[in-house]
Parts: sequence; structure tokens; C-alpha cells
Amino acid sequence: MLKLFNTLSKQLEEFKPLEAGKVSMYTCGPTVYWNAHIGNFRAYVFEDVLVRLLDFEGFEVKRVLNITDVGHLTDDADEGEDKMVKAARREGKTVWDIADLYLKKFVEDSSKLNIRLPEKPYLCRATDHIEQQIELIKILMDKGFGYKTSDGIYFDTSKFQDYGKLSGQKSEDKEEGARVEANPEKRNKTDFALWKFSYQNGRSFDSAQDDSSKKRQMEWKSPWGVGFPGWHAECSAMAHEYLGQPFDIHCGGVDHIAVHHENEIAQSEAAYGTKMANYWLHNEFLTVDGQKMSKSIGNVYTLDELAEKGFEPLSLRLFYFGANYRQIQNFTFEALQASQNALHKLRNIARELEVDGTVLADVEADFLAALNDDLNTPKALAVVWKLLDSENSTQDKGATLLALDRVLALSLDGYVGKRVVVPDEIQALMDKRMQAREEKNWLDSDKLRAEIESRGWTIEDTKEGQRAVPKH
Ligand code: AMP
Ligand code: ZN
Repeated sequence: MLKLFNTLSKQLEEFKPLEAGKVSMYTCGPTVYWNAHIGNFRAYVFEDVLVRLLDFEGFEVKRVLNITDVGHLTDDADEGEDKMVKAARREGKTVWDIADLYLKKFVEDSSKLNIRLPEKPYLCRATDHIEQQIELIKILMDKGFGYKTSDGIYFDTSKFQDYGKLSGQKSEDKEEGARVEANPEKRNKTDFALWKFSYQNGRSFDSAQDDSSKKRQMEWKSPWGVGFPGWHAECSAMAHEYLGQPFDIHCGGVDHIAVHHENEIAQSEAAYGTKMANYWLHNEFLTVDGQKMSKSIGNVYTLDELAEKGFEPLSLRLFYFGANYRQIQNFTFEALQASQNALHKLRNIARELEVDGTVLADVEADFLAALNDDLNTPKALAVVWKLLDSENSTQDKGATLLALDRVLALSLDGYVGKRVVVPDEIQALMDKRMQAREEKNWLDSDKLRAEIESRGWTIEDTKEGQRAVPKH
């Protein structure tokens, strides 16, 4: 029985899908103005494990992941500078090029982490769904939830009775974005933009420096004026388009609870008159020295930066499994190195196993019991290590490891049963080393070891003599 912690009820709940055997799921995706960092990827790996677990347990999963490519403003309060425009200026490109570039990079990085992304149309770009967003805003206007100000159309949160139900905060208690002055035309502090106009009093919103005659690079016609949708509109509109309402599970990071998800709920439930989603799951932050890893603090790493330091993406995937998704996880290079060592050890053990055994039902049951307990990945990993240490046959261990790796996705199928064949040139170096050791020529022996290591192999001296093990 799968139990998940639901932010809506603040409790562990048994997962009951709306339709037997099927799961509909919406996951908030990246804003494609820069490379996703390894804090962001913590969220996507957690969601990937959930999808793979559901799939393993026989559910048919329909998952939507949105790509935020409309330039939104740099803070949650609908003010500040447009992130996409800022990136375009930085890189001397158009905002459309920026979106394409970083979407491509996101797909590549996700694939390196063995994250299974949805296919089109479920991997959906906000700019491809402007019509649906306008439709949503029209419904909200017709139902009296929206109002017009000089810079856009806003949602009146005081009209939505349940406002604050996800975060448990009341509208009056909530802070407007701290870095900006309150917008005097807003009726309530928590009201948020549904649609923003490109121009206000002749001034472009592209940036403060822009000449008012310049057009915004991304703008669309709407019944209320030329402009662009508010950030939250895309998720409500696209979730409704592809999943209907209600759907089963909505995921994202904890930073989305108080504003983004609260506002998604307000829009969707006010417009369509039903609950938006039954289960709301939120992952905690990846931190560095106790601070959230974030672009604005500047303490971020990307997969490319880790690769430059010699770390494989799958070592990071294994690192994430070391903490439950609801715990804060602190990132250090020492911890990542330990995960990389563990991954290499796992591969070397896998090479000694065979593929043609029987999946051990009790081990699989223990593994699933751990993950069914709100995705307890540390416990699930402990089950894997215990299996490898056990006295079961190499065939059964191999078959079981492969089965569990359908959820872990550490690419162990490339290793199980693939016995190591030492290439001739490595064998020749090893023979020379053996000879040097017989002659007690330790200097040469060490040099030869270093040479072998530089070619990707480590030497273990065992009772039976030396043995070459691939480093990875
Ligand atoms: P954003 O592009 O900022 O909307 O973030 C994309 C996803 O990554 C969201 O689900 C965020 O909640 C999540 N996220 C951002 N920073 C972190 C972090 N340091 N640790 C974990 N998740 C994060
Ligand atoms: Zn969203």
C-alpha cells in the first residue's frame, strides 16, 4: 500500500487513484532562462522515482511537465525584471532562442540523470498554450474573480473562500513580495496577476531601461489588452487541458507551496468548480552550508560543473537517494564523492552477478515496502546493499538487482553479468608490474600501477595475485 505525505492534509495518506490502475500527475517544470541546477534536479529526480515506482506497481501514469518559457518577473509578487529578457540581454540572443537553448539543455541533463521526461504534448510549453490561458482568465472574469488595474488583470483572492488552504496561511497574514513596494491598485496583498499588459502609461515592462516604443519580444493579444499571462496561469490551464480536474497528484518543491501552488489552486478551483488535485507532494531543498541552493544566492552547481570535477550524473542521482525527499539535504563534495564510490562499487559487484536468475520476492517486497512508505529511498538502498551481501546465488541476486533498478534507474543493466574482460594492453602492463614486484623493483611497480590507473583501471592485490578492476 502506497502512502504519501499530502501537504493539503499535512498527513501521510494512503494513495487512492481517481481511476483504478491509472495515475494522473502534474509536475511544475523549469523556467528555461538558464541551466537547471542540481537543486532543481533534486525535484525532478524525486518525481522520477515516484513515476517509476507507480509504473513498477502496474499503474498507467499520465504525467504532465510544463516548461515555463514565457518571461515572468523575477519575484513571486509579479514585479521586478523579466528573467527571460534579462538572460537574452546577457547572452545577446532573443528570448525565443534562450527558451529553445535551455529547454534542449534541460532535456539533455535530465536524460543524463536517467529522468524519464513525458513525451509531447505532455511536456508542454507555456507559449504553446496562450489560448488556453486566456480561456481560463475569461472564465475567472465571467465568474467575478478577476479585476482590471492599470498594469494588468488580477485575481481577487478575497473572493476565493479556500485561499490559503495549502500553506495554512490566511490571506491577511501573508506577506507580499518583500523586495517590492505594494501595488496600490491591488485589492488584497495576496492578489496576483492573471494577465499583465505590455505597456503601462506608455512604459514597456521589458525592463526599466527599455525605450517605450520598443515592443516586448513575447506578447500576445487578449480581450483585455496586449500582454502576457501571469506565471501561475500556465499550470492551471495546461493541467486542465491534459489531465482534466480533479487529477491525482501535483508535485513541486516546497518553495512553491505558499504562492505558486496556492495561486494555482485558487485559479483552477474558482474557474472549474472542483478540487484541483487530491495529493500535493513537495520536496525539500538541497542546501549548501544550510542555505537553499539557488541562482539568486549564487551557490549553485550544474551537471556540467560536476562533470568538470570528475563526477558522473548517476553519482548525483545516487546521492539524492541518501535522503528522503521531505528532508533537507545538504550538498557537499565529500558526500558526492562517497556516492560516486558507492556507485562504482555497485557496478563492480554487478559485474560478478548473472542475469538469468529468479527475482527474490522477499527482497522485492522489502524494497517496495520502503518506497511505499512515502518514498523512503535511504531504506530502499539499504535493502539493495543487504541483497548484495546475502548468500543468495549470483543468478538470483543479478535478476533481483535488475528488477529493483527499474525504479532506481542507475543503469545497472549495463553491468549485471557483464564480466570484465581485461584488454591486452592492460594485461601486458600488469605482467610487467608482476615482474617488477618479483624483482622487488617497487619504483617501477608503482609507476606501472599509475599507468594502469590512468587508463581507467585499478589494481587490487589479492591472495591469488593481482586483479584489474575497471574504475567505473
Ligand atoms: P524553478 O525553476 O525555480 O521554478 O524551480 C524548478 C523546481 O526546482 C521547483 O519545483 C522548485 O521548487 C525546485 N527547486 C528550486 N531550488 C531547489 C533546491 N535548492 N532544492 C530542491 N528543489 C529546488
Ligand atoms: Zn506550477
